[in-house]
Amino acid sequence: MQLQHHTAFSITISGILYLMFKSWGLAIACLISGIFIDLDHLVDVIREHGWSVRVKEFFDICRKAQFDRILLVWHGWEWVILLGEASWQTGWNPWITGVFIGISQHVVLDSLFNTRNPLSYSLIWRWRRDFHFDTIFPKYTAIKYRHR
Ligand SMILES: [Zn+2]
Repeated sequence: MQLQHHTAFSITISGILYLMFKSWGLAIACLISGIFIDLDHLVDVIREHGWSVRVKEFFDICRKAQFDRILLVWHGWEWVILLGEASWQTGWNPWITGVFIGISQHVVLDSLFNTRNPLSYSLIWRWRRDFHFDTIFPKYTAIKYRHR
């Protein structure tokens, strides 16, 4: 799923949360985490293509799936579970719960739109496959090799 869709969805979910609970902390934490989770792509782009990548190149690299390995450190069901636990343990602290909802909706949407295998969004599952892009996201290999 693309950044503009994540942004629109995060704004919608955060707006609904604000209307339901009248909590700015909950809404803002959900909005920011639901969009900026994608900053973890920066780690993968810099690791594979170096520090000299410009903004336009960054989006091209992501769109054309130019990765041999993919870490995506914030995209993981493990974070969803840990943040759910942390939300519960803190008595549903609005900031932690907002991050929980923001990260959760983002990972669910990426899982629905980017892969047929929900395990692609498990950090442990990716780690067991040595973060090998073609194994984890086979749907994107045609796009990747068309642009090489
Ligand atoms: Zn994402």
